Amino acid sequence: MRLKDKTALITGGGRGIGATTAFLFAAEGSRVGIVDLRDEGLKEVGAEAKKRGFEFKTFVGDVSKKDQVERVLEEFIQALGRIDSLVNNAGIAISRPFLEKTVEDWVKTLEVNLVGVFLCSQAAARYMVKQKSGKIINISSIRGIDHCGREGIMDYCASKGAVINLTKTMAKELAPYINVNTVAPGHTNTEMTKSLPEEVRRNMIEGSYLKRLAEPEDIAKAILFLSSNDADFITGQLLLVDGGFSLK
Ligand code: NAD
Repeated sequence: MRLKDKTALITGGGRGIGATTAFLFAAEGSRVGIVDLRDEGLKEVGAEAKKRGFEFKTFVGDVSKKDQVERVLEEFIQALGRIDSLVNNAGIAISRPFLEKTVEDWVKTLEVNLVGVFLCSQAAARYMVKQKSGKIINISSIRGIDHCGREGIMDYCASKGAVINLTKTMAKELAPYINVNTVAPGHTNTEMTKSLPEEVRRNMIEGSYLKRLAEPEDIAKAILFLSSNDADFITGQLLLVDGGFSLK
């Protein structure tokens, strides 16, 4: 029970890594809120939580819209009283070759993956500063690491690289009471990668030294560590969970 009596808000919790993190946090004793654009995802995860004996607070909201983010934080605090962890997990990737990439692709990707992290962190940190404690975990990607960019998603790679940089600045500015760290997942077995052609998935597996995709649980365990008191003296850091992919 590494998160006993804590509270956590997880963005993009309607499926994938976010949903898996929500279940792991609940199993470790945390009270959990999830926010997602998709109501059906929230309903499914909420129903599964009930089956497992947990009760999640669910919020429909877009992390890239300031008014919606502030409303979600207000409702979260009203319901749960405090916010111990924020997991900035919501993210999107739009694949299009460089010569066809549009300004709209760029703006949408940066708004969700980068501005969304800023907005949720700012809204949560206002409460965390008053509490004099809190943990923020930003989800980047192996594709945000300097030598690991990928064709077709240069806007995604740039947004995820920026998240690593933003994390370091936030860690300085929100110290000493709030810890801010990044988890960068490698290729993970979720809807985001399930839709890719089989050959691309095979190359992803071949590219990792541990010869498999990450399961969402692999990523959730790293997020759990950085949210727990075991990570009280860690801030501004990047934890790669990629089966060694980035070693190449
Ligand atoms: P996913 O697409 O399965 O789930 C993402 C969830 O975020 C969805 O439920 C979606 O509705 C929600 N979402 C999207 N935009 C939103 C918005 N504006 N506001 C609120 N919710 C929104 O993705 P996943 O594979 O679980 O990935 C989760 C995070 O991990 C993302 O940030 C992603 O970039 C990152 N990541 C994933 C992989 C991978 O291989 N799957 C690898 C590296 C990093």
